[in-house]
Amino acid sequence: MEPRPRRTPGIAEVTFLAYDRHEGVEEDQTSKGCGLNAKGMTAIVATCVAIGLIAYMLTTSSGNPDASAESTPNNQGDKVEERLPKSVSPVEYRLKIIPHLEDGNFTSSGELWITMEFKETTNKIVLNAREITFHQVEIVSLAKDIAVTNVTVKNDSELVIVRVNKLLRKGESHKLYIRFSGILNDVLQGFYRSSYVDSATNETRWTATTQFSPTYARRAFPCFDEPSFKARFRISLGRRENMTSISNMPLKSTQDMPNMPHFVWDHYQPSLPMSTYLVAFIVTDFDNVQVKDSSQPVFRLWSRHDVIDQTEYMSKIGPSMLRFLEGYFNIPFPLDKQDIVALPDFGYNAMENWGLITFRESAMLVNEKEAVAEARQNVASVAGHELAHQWFGNLVTPAWWSDLWLKEGFATFFGNMAVNHVEPTWRMTDSLIQDLHDVLVGDALESSHPISVGLNHTDQITQIFDSISYIKGCSIIRMMHHFLGAEVFRMGIQRYLRTYSYRNAEQDVLWEALTYEARLSENPVTYITVKNVMDTWTLQTGYPVLQVQRNYKTGTVTVFQERFCWAIAGCQDSTESWWIPLTWTTQSNPRYNDTMPKAWLWNPTLELNDTVPDDQWILFNLGQTGYYRVNYDDRNWKQLAQSFETLPPVIRSQLIDDSLAASRAGNLRYKIAIDLISRLENETDFLVWNAALNQLEYIHDKMHDDADYNKFMLRLGRKIFETIGTVEKQNDGHRERRWRGKIMKWACIVGHEECRQRAHQFLKNWIEMPPAKENPIPANLRSWVYCTGLKHGGKSEWNFLWNQYLKTTSGSEKTVLLEALGCITDDAILFSYLEKSISKNSGVRKQDGWWVFRSVAGNPIGKDIAFRFLRENWVALNEYYGSGFSAVAKMVTALPRYMNSETDLKELETFKDSVKLGVTSTAFEQAIEQVKINEAWTTNYKKQIQDILKEI
Ligand SMILES: [Zn+2]
Repeated sequence: MEPRPRRTPGIAEVTFLAYDRHEGVEEDQTSKGCGLNAKGMTAIVATCVAIGLIAYMLTTSSGNPDASAESTPNNQGDKVEERLPKSVSPVEYRLKIIPHLEDGNFTSSGELWITMEFKETTNKIVLNAREITFHQVEIVSLAKDIAVTNVTVKNDSELVIVRVNKLLRKGESHKLYIRFSGILNDVLQGFYRSSYVDSATNETRWTATTQFSPTYARRAFPCFDEPSFKARFRISLGRRENMTSISNMPLKSTQDMPNMPHFVWDHYQPSLPMSTYLVAFIVTDFDNVQVKDSSQPVFRLWSRHDVIDQTEYMSKIGPSMLRFLEGYFNIPFPLDKQDIVALPDFGYNAMENWGLITFRESAMLVNEKEAVAEARQNVASVAGHELAHQWFGNLVTPAWWSDLWLKEGFATFFGNMAVNHVEPTWRMTDSLIQDLHDVLVGDALESSHPISVGLNHTDQITQIFDSISYIKGCSIIRMMHHFLGAEVFRMGIQRYLRTYSYRNAEQDVLWEALTYEARLSENPVTYITVKNVMDTWTLQTGYPVLQVQRNYKTGTVTVFQERFCWAIAGCQDSTESWWIPLTWTTQSNPRYNDTMPKAWLWNPTLELNDTVPDDQWILFNLGQTGYYRVNYDDRNWKQLAQSFETLPPVIRSQLIDDSLAASRAGNLRYKIAIDLISRLENETDFLVWNAALNQLEYIHDKMHDDADYNKFMLRLGRKIFETIGTVEKQNDGHRERRWRGKIMKWACIVGHEECRQRAHQFLKNWIEMPPAKENPIPANLRSWVYCTGLKHGGKSEWNFLWNQYLKTTSGSEKTVLLEALGCITDDAILFSYLEKSISKNSGVRKQDGWWVFRSVAGNPIGKDIAFRFLRENWVALNEYYGSGFSAVAKMVTALPRYMNSETDLKELETFKDSVKLGVTSTAFEQAIEQVKINEAWTTNYKKQIQDILKEI
């Protein structure tokens, strides 16, 4: 059996050495006798004990009664046990670590020297560790009489408290030595193991790799594991001589390992000052290619041998995006090299470790032969995001996870800009608007959270890696970009990055930098500060809707704001108000690109200094650049609908999104919104259709078996179905290729007969082909074909596609298949499919298990099966996935899509009350609120919509 992570660190050895130990640096062999020896820790201790030994106590505790005595206030003023005191600050870590990659012994052993500065006089050092076994702890110092008296490991709070026999004075510097061992776990956190099967030899190959963000560096080695404790890292990695290692910095030298034949040490150059969550190291047998035109920094791309040819697209765009960002920020990338690695097991899409970015395979590799447009865009977007992090996050780091958005929002925003630079035909602004439409849905839940959020527990940290930090963060940055103007924004960003390089920042200092530049340039915003405006967007939950009321006699226009919520969510009593940048235009002189605000709304109500003739419309929030919705009176909506075809696509998509949202929230009669979306009969722009499908999905989920609804949808889509068709054309652009599958999938769902037949035929042709032949279905159409084929197919089709899943070496093809396999309507197959997500040897990697669940829960037939599976396997699922990449939380989030009844609600609430929530607490809260909304909507609006559809 493979070792499972242990909850309680062992108390292996209780010895303490009171002599001055030197670091085991490569130039200095003085520590040889007490150096790291993978074969046996006991032998090492025996050698060292002979030199001098003082016994000390090593204790472990959970729920320690003196917990409050150890607690320290966080920057919100709360008592939070988990936070480290600021009395001791690490300056440099010297880490030697070796992973043992052998079946039955997936462990690591390490030695660590931490140079610390004392900011306050104290007799204790508090740092973080989890699942680490301590073998030796000592103070290495010129003052030889400093002795460690006690080491307390607090499991619940992941703290280690090292007490010494005398006070260490403010201003002094000391070195802490720790010899330890850890576990190469299989939960994709900390220092973990990952495997793949080499196709040439059919052998299983093991890799040891890291994922430290947000709080898992402490699972690899003891450390001050908070982003504000920046330090230099000097890392040495032990490996077998036939493997390779990679770390953040360039390799300095390689040295044979004394006493261990066929093992070597790779010594890396000292890092720049950085946070622990950005440290990374990998020991692997991967291939690599160096990008030819990347002189500074050197770009190297790594993957397992079988897929190394799929790194070509990344080699084209990576260096070019990096150079673009260097130019925009006017700060050169500070490292000599940038390694980019595709890992077979990776919990997230990618991680921005400084100089060593790690990806899951599907987010980095593009199979050029198949060239799926969607996958290509995903790769470019993830790469842009991670490269932007090299400045936003790595160079300037949020002081605490509360301001996670300061790196994630900006990485998303600048990542999009970098992709636009390398792929100018992709209309990347459309992507920002699509993302905005998505996040506006989730952020209208009462249980949403502010962008900048107080965090009291490590469980809460993982929960804010969500669309609020990433997409809402990005969207409010986009809003600033428009209200400050591109140049002021850019200068402010450069000032912020310059000032806080190699340091930590909070949002207030960003506001200061932007306000400074706005005032220098005499920007119209100068009479207020950026902080005035932006605090209302980052510190409050949710967002406003701008209600527009016109007096058609006098021509005056009055606007007022209130928080936007889905009707039942109970936000009606909210008293928040936001600083809203008001942009508008009118029918007689439309200026859609004029996104500099003409006025600000900070009070609840404002009458504009502008009038509009009664026969013309007025339109607010141009280009949907502001993070808010707009709702008009019925007459203005009708006027806008009359002009619909003459408006730019971005405005058309905004009107569709705002009107359907307003109706769903009970602020606009559905008749008005449905009249407006009837205009889609002539619509062929994908951005507009995306907005429509995004909103209509909600109605569809409740009415998918209603004949009138499907008839209406078929009529709406007739033109776009015909225009895009089911066949890829030679001169199709990226957007056509990307969208065809999505549009056709939807056509089939609403009953487009030709669409169903085509999908069926495509799949049949493939199944009947000789097995050695390549898949004949165009890659961009596969998601549609597989899902539709399975929906109308049976066990043999399912088995066929499952075998293809097992066979393919393409990460993106695996994802497409995983999503499609849940489309079948057979209960037993669906349940057995779910069981594969929790079974180690099923072929579904742990990183992908939640896709299986989402796919089944996203099938109207599968909803009850998915819920049953979750209930029956709750403990096992939490054990299997751990808490790291929120796999179980994502499953809970996927549940409520088809839960519309009182019974569904009761069952979900009962289930929530019966389990330990951990990192799923927010997901449950939001799921329950969603079911309440679904139930109320079904009661209030389903019949109303049926009546409207009968009439048109
Ligand atoms: Zn990120």
